[in-house]
Amino acid sequence: MARMVQEKGGGFDVVVVGAGITGAGVARDAALRGLKVCLLDQHDLGSGTTWGSSGMIHGGLRYIEYDWETTRVSCLDGGYIKRIAPHLLFPVVFLLPIYPDDPFGIEKKETALEVYDRFQPYKAGRPHVRLSAAEALALEPGLRPGLRGAVTMDEWGVDAARLVALNALGAREAGAEVRTYTEVIGVAREGTRVTGVQVRSRLTGAVETVAARVVCNAAGPWGPALAGMAGASLKLRPAKGVHLIYDRRISNCALGVEAIDGRDLLLVPHSNQTIVGTTDDDFYGDPEHLEVTDDEVEYILQAFERVLPSIRQHRIAHANAAVRPTLYEWRRYEDDLSREYEVFDHGTRDGVPGLVSIAGGKMSMFRKMAEDTVDVLLRVLGLPFVPTSTHTAPLPGGESTVDVAEVAGNFGLPLPVAQRLVARHGARAEALMGDAEPEDRRALLCECEPVTRGELRYVVRTESVERLEDLYRRVRCTGGACLGMRCAWPAARLLGEEKGWNARRVAEEVHDFLDARWLQRPSVVRGATAAQEQLYRGAVYALGEVCDPAPAAEHVAAPVLAAGD
Ligand SMILES: Cc1cc2nc3c(=O)[nH]c(=O)nc-3n(C[C@H](O)[C@H](O)[C@H](O)COP(=O)(O)OP(=O)(O)OC[C@H]3O[C@@H](n4cnc5c(N)ncnc54)[C@H](O)[C@@H]3O)c2cc1C
Repeated sequence: MARMVQEKGGGFDVVVVGAGITGAGVARDAALRGLKVCLLDQHDLGSGTTWGSSGMIHGGLRYIEYDWETTRVSCLDGGYIKRIAPHLLFPVVFLLPIYPDDPFGIEKKETALEVYDRFQPYKAGRPHVRLSAAEALALEPGLRPGLRGAVTMDEWGVDAARLVALNALGAREAGAEVRTYTEVIGVAREGTRVTGVQVRSRLTGAVETVAARVVCNAAGPWGPALAGMAGASLKLRPAKGVHLIYDRRISNCALGVEAIDGRDLLLVPHSNQTIVGTTDDDFYGDPEHLEVTDDEVEYILQAFERVLPSIRQHRIAHANAAVRPTLYEWRRYEDDLSREYEVFDHGTRDGVPGLVSIAGGKMSMFRKMAEDTVDVLLRVLGLPFVPTSTHTAPLPGGESTVDVAEVAGNFGLPLPVAQRLVARHGARAEALMGDAEPEDRRALLCECEPVTRGELRYVVRTESVERLEDLYRRVRCTGGACLGMRCAWPAARLLGEEKGWNARRVAEEVHDFLDARWLQRPSVVRGATAAQEQLYRGAVYALGEVCDPAPAAEHVAAPVLAAGD
């Protein structure tokens, strides 16, 4: 039987449905402005479209041609995001190589970049540089010879899933309740007025009603379905995009190249991986069930092979698909659709008071999208206007800058381990390590990805981790070259210790994880390699305890030498 959640004071002010970057941003802003907030997601934090993004906080060079305002707002907001989360953003320098058969010569390309340079100060970016062919090849020796030259473009990269996690954590610290694996299955109404949502836990199956004065629909590509549950309408023009994720960095610089149809594609070195994509095609299916086709993989490889001939020799870890929740527009070609966003008050629009939707936009302007949405929420709630503080209030860990070498020295960590730790937790890294059990501090879970057992325990305890796959999003555990084959069992056992799981539950978690991972492999692995991987996977699946020789002494990070040692 459905249970009614009766919060003190008669429910929440606002239930935000969808903990992608949009919903997590809205929840934090609303909580900081004093609203009683509940943030819900049917899966993990940031596991929808946001997880499948290219991980860039950028203005978008190509948008200046037809969507100037998007470039301006994204660059401005990128500057604010850099200010509130300095540890999370990292510089990405693109090389845009120019060949004789390119439609735009170096002069035209440089002209576009001169225009883009005017936006760079908004996001603390640097102006472009024109390079000779020799200079470009010195930076990126793997480029196909014969190029005319290149121009550079400066952008920021971000771990998108962590940006969501930090917004959700920030929302919680400002008083919000955050619930993952909680699916909205219906909308509660009194007459036409929305009064909350019916939810079902995807972990326990429990059903209940969460009462709220306003429901904020931040469900990304699922937004139309959610609006439909309340009898309102929201029309999008969703587009599917595919990326290939390589298990290591395969270039020195990020690269921008042209696909066979003239579209711009990107290759971005991103932490230990490389993200390559993306396609952009109208999508009519269910965003819950996305497949990557051989044609999509080939389209991307073909484009990069023309510029980086070695691309097919590298190992693709998996392919990612995501659906962009673009605003509805008829006629325009997918790639030319505006990335603008809109806040819909369904009370005035469809006669469904108590429902507000936010749709469209980009991750790069999530903070501004949240600000505009909460302005509308305050109005709908009939509350006095309170200005946002998210352009200055630091995200968790962004309170001050941290010296990575000092953290490494203080805790005896190798520099790469300390660097990742600080990139994820910023100013909180030291406290996190200080609180960790001494035996967990330097114990790495896997040689492929520098994450310690201490950090893992911390995120399980504080960052709404429920499943093994969530650890990949939170700290990149299982994201290294072993693709989880070495670390799935120890990570699941650690998760089990924290959650009080028995051995059977731990094994089920590993099996679910390996099954889901394998489903991402067929489009990117073929022939004998596929057979070999399948065999190995079978062994890990069945004999995990044998394959994983317990928390290994050889995985303890060798300490750094302190100065003078
Ligand atoms: C291929 C691709 C690359 C991109 N690259 C970039 C980039 O580099 N930079 C950039 O700025 N932008 C990029 N974008 C755009 C950006 O990723 C999106 O605009 C943004 O991530 C959308 O976030 P969201 O929170 O609105 O949606 P989502 O991330 O999809 O979040 C919606 C959430 O709602 C939840 N949900 C849905 N229905 C329910 C329900 N019934 N109950 C509970 N929860 C529910 C889902 O589980 C999901 O987590 C890219 C987009 C694509 C497709």
